[in-house]
Amino acid sequence: MSLRLENLTVSYQRHPAVHHVQGEFAAGEATAIFGPNGAGKSTLLKTMMGLIQPDAGRVVLDGLTRRDIAYLPQQSEIDRSLPVEVLDLVTTGQWFRSSWFRRVDRQGRDAAWQALETVGLADFAHRPVSALSIGQFQRVLFARILAQDARVILLDEPFNAVDARTTHDLFDLLQRWRGEGRTVIAVLHDESQVRRHFPRTLLLAREVVAWGETDRVLTEDNMRRAVDTAAHWQDRAPVCHVNGETA
Ligand code: ADP
Ligand code: MG
Repeated sequence: MSLRLENLTVSYQRHPAVHHVQGEFAAGEATAIFGPNGAGKSTLLKTMMGLIQPDAGRVVLDGLTRRDIAYLPQQSEIDRSLPVEVLDLVTTGQWFRSSWFRRVDRQGRDAAWQALETVGLADFAHRPVSALSIGQFQRVLFARILAQDARVILLDEPFNAVDARTTHDLFDLLQRWRGEGRTVIAVLHDESQVRRHFPRTLLLAREVVAWGETDRVLTEDNMRRAVDTAAHWQDRAPVCHVNGETA
């Protein structure tokens, strides 16, 4: 399998947030996406999930379908006041396992219970999602990903605002996914976490600053380039013209 970005440009109202990004995520490896605020990190993950359409280039999934990819959005984009039970939130990750009318089958319910056990929240299965703390909520979202049994896992700032104990436990899960040969791609903003847990890094500042082995990517030079690029950003990037067409 491979997960490749080919000359990917993604814009909002024609202003590129991700610009001519080209490269491949190593299969079965953990890659961090690192970069300043507004670098296009979340936009990139959403495009890989098919939630946003690129204006140029493409996401190539070789030997994969979107169902093989699980996605954890940034906390700020999730409505935590949802009127649903914890168990239901965990099972919604895997509706595709069941028939077209989207009732989750027995196997799906079992997987959800098991996942809740794993994150230590089985006792919370019938509580409303709105009653959870941020750390508990993040555990539930990780359970949702566990239950999906996906080959590729995309995480957008999974440890943001999460307490130390939960972060530690969730890192154990991440380690387990790596051991199982899953491909993990995570947006992180803690450099030491990246260095400790992610062998590969994509340093993004709308464009690729560097992409490869973490030690070679997170050099002082590259980091300065990323920050300098961001310092010169206008609020909205200039409209991109490729071959005379808007891209
Ligand atoms: P990051 O996750 O790296 O902080 P984002 O991908 O969220 O960056 O955003 C990249 C750029 O695109 C930012 O300038 C942001 O303001 C802009 N942007 C993000 N989402 C939208 C949107 N829905 N509409 C318009 N602009 C957006
Ligand atoms: Mg983001």
